[in-house]
Amino acid sequence: MSRDQYTFTNPVELYSEIEPQKGHQQEPGLDADLTPKADLGEDTYRGTGRLTGRKALITGGDSGIGAATAIAFAREGADVALSYLPEEEEDAQRIAGILREAGATVLTFPGDLKQKDYCVELVSKTVDALGGLDIVVNNGGKQIYNEDLTTLDDQQFDDTFTTNVDAMFWITKAALPHLPAGATIINTTSVQAYSPSETLVDYASTKATINAFTKAVAQQLAPKGIRVNAVAPGPIWTPLQVTDGQPPEKLESFGEETPLGRMGQPAELAPAYVFLASAESSYVIGETLNVNGGMPTP
Ligand code: NAD
Ligand code: MG
Repeated sequence: MSRDQYTFTNPVELYSEIEPQKGHQQEPGLDADLTPKADLGEDTYRGTGRLTGRKALITGGDSGIGAATAIAFAREGADVALSYLPEEEEDAQRIAGILREAGATVLTFPGDLKQKDYCVELVSKTVDALGGLDIVVNNGGKQIYNEDLTTLDDQQFDDTFTTNVDAMFWITKAALPHLPAGATIINTTSVQAYSPSETLVDYASTKATINAFTKAVAQQLAPKGIRVNAVAPGPIWTPLQVTDGQPPEKLESFGEETPLGRMGQPAELAPAYVFLASAESSYVIGETLNVNGGMPTP
């Protein structure tokens, strides 16, 4: 089946042959080791110049949703800085190669989003090397399941909040002095913000926070011409899920609960980020775009 975004397609059948497998990996995991392979749009995403000359920073840009977004951004004409953990160099280098083939200037910044200094330097180094910044995608995230609150250790709770929330705050704050009118900020939240799983207490709480942060900051920045929005993915096939993002026994039916009856692929997320990054969404502010296979949201 043809999978590019211009071909008339039945979304029920699209990717329905890709069955999730347990294939456990150590956090943070690699797309290179994901079985079956995820579709990041490498062979299919076709750009139309919607981000020509734009300068983007994407956290978690090495794999999954962030990598699919990076590929789409580069093919739409943007230069891209990728943030990821040092253990993910292999994935990051593969994605950087794909972006360079598309003609993009690419920066790779390994480091830990839990460190404020790294987040602040990530922004300043991106601005210096790209000659500015006008798209920020706060997408890096941590998700570790836990079945009983009494065994949810304080360190995990803190790390999940620091990675998913504090880093977004630090990066956004550091970026603001550099963002011109017309710039866009996109935060990755989740369907977990409204339909929290019992096994994802800390993670779901961060995702609700990200939604509220997005809608509050969006109102502050709109008069300056800076638009802030969020994307809320449903169950998407990425390394996050096989690195204890889910109890292993739940992985085999991953995504079946959606009205489409299947998990989504990162390539199905990228167009949402392109839309919110580009000028075509000029009147869309403080919105959460749900890309979740049809699960109802508030
Ligand atoms: P992924 O594992 O491919 O991406 C997550 C990335 O976060 C990693 O690649 C890593 O580079 C980065 N990261 C995590 N901890 C970090 C740290 N301490 N320092 C630096 N980088 C760090 O998985 P994904 O599913 O593409 O995740 C991207 C975003 O999508 C996350 O915010 C996740 O919560 C969100 N999300 C995913 C799903 C899903 O089903 N996969 C659903 C809803 C939301
Ligand atoms: Mg990764």
